[in-house]
Amino acid sequence: MDKIYLDNAATTPLSEEVIDAMVSVMKVTYGNPSSTHSFGQEAKILIENVRREVAEYLHVSPSEIIFTSCGTESNNMIIKSCVDHLGVERIITSPMEHKCVAETVLDMKKRRGVEVVYLRPDHKGDFDLTKLEEVLKNSEKKTLVSLMHANNEIGNLLDIKKVGEMCRENNALFHSDTVQSMAHMDLDFSQIPVDFASCSAHKFHGPKGSGFAFIRKASGLKGIITGGPQERTLRAGTENVCGIVGLGKALELSLKNMNEYASHIREIKNYTISRIKEEIEGVKFNGRSAEEETSLYTVLSVLLPFKDPMIGLKLDMKGIAISQGSACSSGASKPSMVMLMLLDEEEMQHTTPLRVSFSHLTTKKEIDALIDALKEISEGVKIENTNFEHR
Ligand code: PLP
Repeated sequence: MDKIYLDNAATTPLSEEVIDAMVSVMKVTYGNPSSTHSFGQEAKILIENVRREVAEYLHVSPSEIIFTSCGTESNNMIIKSCVDHLGVERIITSPMEHKCVAETVLDMKKRRGVEVVYLRPDHKGDFDLTKLEEVLKNSEKKTLVSLMHANNEIGNLLDIKKVGEMCRENNALFHSDTVQSMAHMDLDFSQIPVDFASCSAHKFHGPKGSGFAFIRKASGLKGIITGGPQERTLRAGTENVCGIVGLGKALELSLKNMNEYASHIREIKNYTISRIKEEIEGVKFNGRSAEEETSLYTVLSVLLPFKDPMIGLKLDMKGIAISQGSACSSGASKPSMVMLMLLDEEEMQHTTPLRVSFSHLTTKKEIDALIDALKEISEGVKIENTNFEHR
C-alpha cells in the first residue's frame, strides 16, 4: 500500500534539490561563518546570498532578515523583545493564533504584567476590524498587535495590509505570524506595513530547524538569545549554514514554481471539495477554507457530519496521514481553540473536524483514496450508532 501524505500544513517533504544543496554544505562548505579564513568566509557568503534572496522576495533590506531556528523562535523573539526592549504594555491578539504566539503572549501577561486584549472571531473565523480600531484607540498604552496572516487550521487569510495601516495610524506595532503563507504567496512588505513577521522553511519543502524573522529596521527590536555578535547581535549562536542554504533553495524553488504549484493545488482543492460534497451528505467546511479568495489554497478544513474522535488513527491505518487540526495540538483530546471559536455545542457533539492540507505533489488519485476511506469510516460509524441505539 502506497502511503498518502495530506498533512502539508504540519510539514512538507524536502525537495531533492534542497537535500543536494544541504549535503554540499555539510561536505564542502563546513566552515564557521564567523571565522576570518576562507572556509569561514565561503560559508558566510552562502548565508548572505540567502539573506539577499529573502529580502528581494519580501521587498525589504537584507539587514531586516534575521535567521532563526524556526517559526516558534521567530515569534518568541519578536513578542518577548517587544515587551522587554520596546516598552510594549498591551498586546491585541486573537484566540486563533498558533500556540507559539498564544503561549508567549500568556507568558508576557504572567511574567511582565502585559495587558492582553483578545479579538473574538465570528463563526466564519473573521475579525471585525472596526472593533480592532476601537480597541486601538481606547488606550494610551504602547501596543503590539499580533494577528496571523493565514490560519494554520482553517486557512482564513487576514488583510494584513489593512491591519498594518490601522496599526500605523494608531501608533501600534504590528506582528504577523506568516509561517503558513510565506513562500506560498507574494508578500511585498514595502507595501504592507507590517513591523515583524516570521517564517519556517519546513512549511515549503525546506528543512526543519531553519527559519527567519523579518524585523523592520527602524523598530529597534533586540534579540532574546545573548552571546556572540551573529545576526547583527540579534541572534547569538553559530549559524545553521546548512539549514539556511536549505531554506534558500526551498524558497527559490517555491518562487520559481509558485504559479504552477498554486494552480495545481487549487485544482486539487476544488476537486476535494466537490468530491466530498458528492459523497458525504451533510458535510460542511470550516471558516473560509472552501472559498478561493479568502483562504490559503493549501488548507481545507472539513467538518464531517458524524462524531469520530479516532478518525486520525483510522485514516492512518489505511495509510493516509492527515491531521484534525494543528500538529502541535494533535493527540490532545480537547477540541482546538479554533474549533471552539467556530462551532456551537451541538456541532461539537455530532461532528468531526479534519484538516486536509495539500502540496504540489498531491494527486487526484490520492484524494479519491481519501474519499473512499472517509465513506467507509462514515458507514462504520453509522452501523456502530445503529447497534448502540438497539442495545
Ligand atoms: N505558526 C504557524 C501558523 C504554524 O503553523 C507553525 C507550525 O505549525 C508555527 C508557527 C511554528 O513553526 P515551527 O514549526 O517552525 O516552530
